[in-house]
Amino acid sequence: MKDQMLLFLCDCRGEIDLPKDLNLGKQLPTFKHSYLCSPEGIKYIEEMIQKHGARDIIVAGCTPRIADTFFKKYDAEIVNIREQAAYVGHGDEKMKALIRAAIEKKKTSKGRFKREIDIASKDVLIIGAGIAGLEAARRCADSGLGVYLIEKEQFIGGMVGKLDRVYPEGTPVSHTLNRIIFDTVGRNNVTVMTGAELQGVEGNIGNYTIKLKVKPNPIAKCNLCGECVDVCPITVQDNGIERKAIYFEPTYPNTYAIDWSSCDRCGKCTEICKDINLDVKEKDIELKVGAIIVATGLEPFDASKITAYGYGRYKNVYTALEYERKLVRGELKPKSVVIINCAGSRDEHYLPYCSRVCCFIGMKEAKLTKDVSPDTEVYLTYIDMRTYGVFESLYSSLRDSGVNLIRGRPSEITERDGKLIVHTEDMVLDELLKIETDCVVLSTGYVPSKEVLKKLRLPVEDEFPMNYVCSTLSIDANPHGIFLAGCSSYPKDVTRTLISADYIAGNLVSMFTKQSIEVTNPVSEINNDMCSGKNCGICAWVCPYSAIMEEDG
Ligand code: SF4
Ligand code: SF4
Repeated sequence: MKDQMLLFLCDCRGEIDLPKDLNLGKQLPTFKHSYLCSPEGIKYIEEMIQKHGARDIIVAGCTPRIADTFFKKYDAEIVNIREQAAYVGHGDEKMKALIRAAIEKKKTSKGRFKREIDIASKDVLIIGAGIAGLEAARRCADSGLGVYLIEKEQFIGGMVGKLDRVYPEGTPVSHTLNRIIFDTVGRNNVTVMTGAELQGVEGNIGNYTIKLKVKPNPIAKCNLCGECVDVCPITVQDNGIERKAIYFEPTYPNTYAIDWSSCDRCGKCTEICKDINLDVKEKDIELKVGAIIVATGLEPFDASKITAYGYGRYKNVYTALEYERKLVRGELKPKSVVIINCAGSRDEHYLPYCSRVCCFIGMKEAKLTKDVSPDTEVYLTYIDMRTYGVFESLYSSLRDSGVNLIRGRPSEITERDGKLIVHTEDMVLDELLKIETDCVVLSTGYVPSKEVLKKLRLPVEDEFPMNYVCSTLSIDANPHGIFLAGCSSYPKDVTRTLISADYIAGNLVSMFTKQSIEVTNPVSEINNDMCSGKNCGICAWVCPYSAIMEEDG
């Protein structure tokens, strides 16, 4: 029989106890399989479609987030009987109800909306010029694409640019970062804009219009004499270092720049340097690009929220980044330090999840302390030490260098006679300890920066852009032409950040080998019989893509 509907039930390799009797009537051929998303499963579906001349298929099994990747090409209706029934113990009746609903939906559905979209521009916008954005820019530029690399700060380099060195080897950050910078900026097909913020995005894959606001550097020609710094009265605390409102970072551009959020426009720097123009105007810039890479990185969890640890209240409680920057500059020479891993992480009051990188950031600060100051007594507390691959060797080297590893979560930090006291359990010795120390380092968890994700209307659930974490969207060419590189989807170490950026750039380049892209998305339409016709306008108001508008008459 032609044009009929087929139902495929998948037990997900024994994960789902499929209903024994569906009572769907004989008109709906039903097939059971244990692994439909395997090559054999796909072949089985194709054979059945061929045999029955079917037009519509329904696949009941796991979540559409996974299943859609495999069965979208058949325009399949996916029924999630795993998470929505089997995993939550709802059993046969719920599964049957979900399947019946899918059958009714399929009978009336017009199928997915398909269209070919021309790739009007093969330029790419990369938002964020940290190590991920730079690496993605370098790879895209290698393949001949035009790249706009924008950075909202005055200097590129991002979070990695603020670090001193990366472990397990203790390699200076400049060895990795500066090499990528010098290989990226200055190319004919790469435009770098600092002080540039995304204002808006319109269009779709292959044809985006980007609106930027750019505050140009007010220094026309800088000879790096540094005299402006001496006269600037504004001091800024910048993640463990003190700097002035006019400052320099050894990345790019090779000039001093003004931190506009701190500068009070006193004009003292202009009195000693004729090349500084405080009246420089913001510019609105519009770009046309075919795809967007988000490389906005991550932000450390706000340590002041963990009130028991006294960050912001006690002078000598630091974040890992602050400690590292002070230590390598010689501004801190502690006789003892307690480093607290998982500070606020895996704790339902703060960050309920593991950020994956903070264990080895804590280990890194311990090793760095021993490398810089071998006589400092170092304590490292942890809940579980989550090291993998080469980081296990860092863990072993901590023991060899005399770091005191304490398994336990500190309950609080107090202060007595100018010393900090860390109150902690030691689960191995089964004792409560009070460790007196000069300073404490909080190795907190991380959250992706969300400002740009919101501007691009990418949904964020539980702090993360889930669609880019739990599906092939994290790496594949995707229907929106918006890619997330590095830590903008979830925390990664430097190596994995670079791998992610390379992978994303490679997939974007392969997407741009085509002249057009087929997009298959469900598209809504208005049922005129049901619309109130009273111009309530709610749909136009809530649509995040401005895809619907009210017209007179
Ligand atoms: S901005 Fe002027 S004063 Fe400041 S470092 Fe550059 S040349 Fe020197
Ligand atoms: S105008 Fe701004 S950057 Fe220049 S000296 Fe004054 S505060 Fe510093």
